[in-house]
Order: sequence, then C-alpha cells, then structure tokens
Amino acid sequence: LLSLREATVRFGARAALDAVDLAVAEHEIVCVLGPSGSGKSTLLRAVAGLQGLDAGRIELDGRDQRGVPAHKRGVGLMFQDHQLFPQRDVAGNVAFGLRMRGASRGEQADRVAELLELVGLPKAQRRAVASLSGGEQQRVALARALAPRPRLLMLDEPLGQLDRSLRERLVVELRELFDELGTTVLAVTHDQGEAFALADRVVVMRDGRIAQSGTPLEVWQHPADEFVARFLGFDN
Ligand code: ATP
Ligand code: MG
Repeated sequence: LLSLREATVRFGARAALDAVDLAVAEHEIVCVLGPSGSGKSTLLRAVAGLQGLDAGRIELDGRDQRGVPAHKRGVGLMFQDHQLFPQRDVAGNVAFGLRMRGASRGEQADRVAELLELVGLPKAQRRAVASLSGGEQQRVALARALAPRPRLLMLDEPLGQLDRSLRERLVVELRELFDELGTTVLAVTHDQGEAFALADRVVVMRDGRIAQSGTPLEVWQHPADEFVARFLGFDN
C-alpha cells in the first residue's frame, strides 16, 4: 500500500528523514518508536503530503505521490497536538471529514454517535471543544481521524495524554476496530506497551533513520544494536 524509497527531508543542514526505506502492506499495523527529534512526526507528515521531500519518493498503491496534495492522498492523519476546530462543537469536529465527502445528515449522525461511544465520550456531542480536557480533546481528534474510514490512517501519539486505564482499554478496542475495518495504520507512540499491543510490526527510528524494523517479538528479543536495546530499556 505504502512505500518510501530513500525518502529524505532536510531542515537546514540536518536531515529529519535520512534516506528512509519503508514499506507498509495493506491491513498492516505499524508502530513507530524512537526518541524525541528522531523524525517520527516528519515521516507521517511527509506521507500525508504536508511536508515535501528533498530526495527520494513516496508511493501509495504504486503511484508516486510527488505533487499530489494532502486531500487527494486518501490518508488520514491525527496530529500530535490534535488541532480541533475551536468554533465547532464535538459532533461538528467528528463529522468534518464526513461532510466533506458528502455523507447524508443521517449517516453523519450515526457515525458520530458510534465513534464517540467508542472513544468513551457518548454524551459530549454538543460540548464546545474548548470546554474539554486535553485527554477528551485527544479522544475527539481520534474519532475525527477515524470517521472517514481512510485506507491508511496515521496517528501521531494518539493516546499520549490519556490515563493508563483508558489507554489500555482503547488500545484493545482500536486493534479490534482496525482488524474489523481492515484499516492500514502507521502510528507513532512513546509507549512501548502500546506499540507491542497494537502493532504487527514495530519500527524504531534514530536520527532520521530506521534503526530496526520487525515484529514486536523480534525487536524485543533481538534488538538490532545497542541503541535499540538501550531505547527499549535493556541495560546491555
Ligand atoms: P517527538 O517525539 O518530540 O515528537 P519526532 O520524532 O516526531 O519527535 P520530528 O518532529 O519529526 O521528531 O523532528 C525531527 C527533527 O526535525 C527535529 O530535530 C526537529 O527539530 C526538526 N524539525 C521538524 N520540523 C521542523 C521544521 N518545520 N523546521 C525545522 N526543523 C524541523
Ligand atoms: Mg513528533
């Protein structure tokens, strides 16, 4: 479905993405791990079309995405800082992508109710987003990203501000939902437990490069090098 070849993004002298090769198969759930500044968000933004490449290429379904604008890529992106529309209420935010695609009012209402139920905010439809806590806003942003059922869904720290029990519940429900819908997912997370629960494959980044890619078990049992081992919390 998705393929990056030597994808490179530079900011000044520094490469935020440094000749990254990555392929994501249809229905695969890939979690990206790595320290702050290693290029995780840049990777997602490049695939979404919000960040141009300085070298290399990105293909979706075998088609080069150079020059293809974000809204024509058929991918969903949930930002790290979620960026809800402050002038719309919760339901208006979740329905945004549905309205853009011409869904009927009835369809929109059903889908909004279903998604808010999923993220644990069934009664928040008419709330102003400014009145929600950070974690609640994050859940609304997640519902909004899921709403149009994108073929490739990219999530940047989707559960970052939530408390442990909610994260643990949502990770299980998200995994079920993705399996059911056949959604392909590329998700950034800081939380190893989350990555290992959610992912078919884990990608560990370091300084704009992929330090290791493998199943959670492979990466956990056989870290490719000392960096990965230390990042995962092994002492040696
Ligand atoms: P975090 O875990 O903190 O979110 P990250 O892995 O998502 O980190 P990126 O946001 O992809 O990291 O940033 C990678 C590098 O590129 C960093 O050094 C960052 O400072 C730099 N960078 C990202 N966006 C820009 C920009 N618009 N202008 C200049 N430098 C940038
Ligand atoms: Mg980031």
